[in-house]
Amino acid sequence: MAGSTAHKRIVILGGGSGGLELASQLAGKGELEVVLVDRELAHLWKPRLHEFAAGTVSSSLAEMSFYMLGHLRGFRFEQGEVSALDHDRREIVLAAIPGKDGTTAARERRIPYDVCVVALGGVVPDFGTTGVKEFAVRLDTKSDADHFRDRFIAAMIEARESGEPAEVVIVGSGATGTELAAHLRRSERGFFDQSTAERRRKLLGITILEAAPEIMPGAEPELRQQLAERLRRLDIKTVTDVNVSRIEVDAVSSKSGERWPCDLAVWAAGLVGNPILKRLGRFEIDNRGRIVVDQTLRSSLDEHVYAMGDAASLTPPGADKPLPPTAQAASQQADYLVEVLPLIARGEPVEPFRYADKGRIVSLGRAGTVGMIGFGKKDDFLIHGHFATAAYNALQRQHQWRVLGRLRGTVSIAADMISPTKGPALKLHGD
Ligand SMILES: Cc1cc2nc3c(=O)[nH]c(=O)nc-3n(C[C@H](O)[C@H](O)[C@H](O)COP(=O)(O)OP(=O)(O)OC[C@H]3O[C@@H](n4cnc5c(N)ncnc54)[C@H](O)[C@@H]3O)c2cc1C
Repeated sequence: MAGSTAHKRIVILGGGSGGLELASQLAGKGELEVVLVDRELAHLWKPRLHEFAAGTVSSSLAEMSFYMLGHLRGFRFEQGEVSALDHDRREIVLAAIPGKDGTTAARERRIPYDVCVVALGGVVPDFGTTGVKEFAVRLDTKSDADHFRDRFIAAMIEARESGEPAEVVIVGSGATGTELAAHLRRSERGFFDQSTAERRRKLLGITILEAAPEIMPGAEPELRQQLAERLRRLDIKTVTDVNVSRIEVDAVSSKSGERWPCDLAVWAAGLVGNPILKRLGRFEIDNRGRIVVDQTLRSSLDEHVYAMGDAASLTPPGADKPLPPTAQAASQQADYLVEVLPLIARGEPVEPFRYADKGRIVSLGRAGTVGMIGFGKKDDFLIHGHFATAAYNALQRQHQWRVLGRLRGTVSIAADMISPTKGPALKLHGD
């Protein structure tokens, strides 16, 4: 790829937190032809997926049409399921899209690339636990969130009718599990009967089960303690040291014989690379199913292929494990690739990617926002209240700016702020 960058084509697989930021910003620079591929028609910012599930999503920007974004920012969008990467011909293959009436809605397509960036995200693994696939909900995609919300609403209607609280059991006390629990408590209010004295009658029991001795393993002790306190305030039960061995239609059971009856079980334990990565092409895959990349995010086995976000396994120099699968890391990697891909296309040398850990923040609905931020482990400090909420929202604001550009991003953020769904946001439908 030495010489002029004219007609050099970058194909980005996956328009999630990282891939869409990369496509929008890179196309905005106008130096390279950018093609974005996603199996969905609209972008959904995954850090808000639990809010879709709980029905409390309050942002008008949580979903954006890829075709419209492509038109606004100057990239070509191709809808389709990536099925293979042909390293030798430098082409990616999109599977045919089946039509609803047994016909083919779109035929199989091959898209040539000069550089391909794999940003296909990750999934929650079931670790082979019996019943997870059949009876638990995992929050990987928008349709998972829609499915959860439908079942949640049905359980709440039944609770209101029968007088018996609906029971939700969440396996895993990381950010997804705890934030979902808090938002469900918020959703419960929408089902209170406002006109009777019984309006505060409890309609929902929520239990979080954690395999480790403490909730949110890996988090700083101060943060864990704050979280535990806030979950207690929200009347969310947490049980630690639980080795879940089976999920059934109406209960979650542990290896040691305990049983938690439930109407809905959520499996939110861990994250691995998108399973397609293992069969997509020739990659070195780590023990969590992610593509091993060097310090410039380039695949260890093909200089024309890069990987980023939850699909990539990047171990910074001196670290003993790869970066965590977060939108924060995906976004920083997108910024990096926006700068270096034009250089790479011109055959110029590039600096390695450097990750700056800005901490972690958890938003617990009515119980507020809490987090640890800092510029290095020693300087991390606990934040809560308005400052923490502002810092939490900042991640999405930055995403909006990167995807929509400064002007449109600012307008849409302002629209979000004056939206009537602010405050006790309740959106108990899918679109
Ligand atoms: C409930 C929840 C809350 C979270 N909160 C936070 C938070 O507060 N802060 C934070 O930093 N991180 C958070 N995360 C993690 C964050 O969402 C992910 O780390 C981030 O989205 C990863 O970005 P990505 O671009 O790698 O992948 P994704 O955002 O997952 O995007 C992958 C894209 O690939 C597409 N795709 C997948 N397979 C195919 C295929 N075969 N063909 C075509 N397209 C395909 C998908 O449709 C999707 O658009 C949260 C995650 C969840 C689930």
